[in-house]
Amino acid sequence: MDKKTFKEIKKKLLEQKKVVEKGLETVGKKDDATSQDDENFNSRFPDYGDKEDENAAEVSVYSDRLAIEQELEKDIKDINKALKNIKDGSYGICKHCGKPIDERRLMIRPTSSSCVECKKRLKGEN
Ligand SMILES: [Zn+2]
Repeated sequence: MDKKTFKEIKKKLLEQKKVVEKGLETVGKKDDATSQDDENFNSRFPDYGDKEDENAAEVSVYSDRLAIEQELEKDIKDINKALKNIKDGSYGICKHCGKPIDERRLMIRPTSSSCVECKKRLKGEN
């Protein structure tokens, strides 16, 4: 992979990370206990009131937030992993067969960790 492509992909990853982090901030707050670990967010539990319908609404909003949060946390983990791989030089290598992943695929989905062939073979995984 040439330097320009590499740089482009890194930029994409960092931009994606920002978007995902923004999203996480709207549904939750960072877990103080594990503030070292920037992948860990807790969904905020809303407080509408103490009436039964208010409590029901709180639970429903909270479970929506949890679902979004889990999705976003998965994204941010993938992004951080890709950034780490860029750092240690293992980025763009298929984790299954060890062959380089198609650059065009990486440009579209920079967090890809397997090549198209393996992806097809292992359909459903990752
Ligand atoms: Zn592969």
